[in-house]
Amino acid sequence: MTTFYRVHWSNLLPFNAEHAWSSLTGVPRSEDGTKSECPACDCTGENWDPCPTCNGKFPATDECERCDGTGLTAECQRCDGTGWEPCLRGYSCYESAEQLISYYSESGREGMVPADEPVIIFEGWQADTGFDDEPTVVPERVIETLTWAELVARFRADLA
Ligand SMILES: [Zn+2]
Ligand SMILES: [Zn+2]
Repeated sequence: MTTFYRVHWSNLLPFNAEHAWSSLTGVPRSEDGTKSECPACDCTGENWDPCPTCNGKFPATDECERCDGTGLTAECQRCDGTGWEPCLRGYSCYESAEQLISYYSESGREGMVPADEPVIIFEGWQADTGFDDEPTVVPERVIETLTWAELVARFRADLA
């Protein structure tokens, strides 16, 4: 089993397999954390999109039942009118401490992680691939929990 490294932000739900879902940073989530708000309709499920049945032809040649021949449906096509998009299974993480530290050292992210933010070193299985091409992993066993400052102090020497 592979070992992974992750900053587990202290405002998130407890670190475990059940809560291991990912969405883009900053997108609001459902209470159980498995879904994120649809950005196309702001979670309302409503968006006047071309009708997927008649491809939005207007006026419709044959009266389309789905859109009553208007060529438009009020249902958001991105989320099928639910207002939500499923999150990716697994937590965003990296396969080495060096990769994790590099990620948060890139311009725009420097200083993003407070010194006492928890970092979790764990074993798990990769379920998917995240928005920055990082693995998203469902944890099976926590090896160690330490702070960001402790992680950087332990691994920064290897980076130089
Ligand atoms: Zn939507
Ligand atoms: Zn239609």
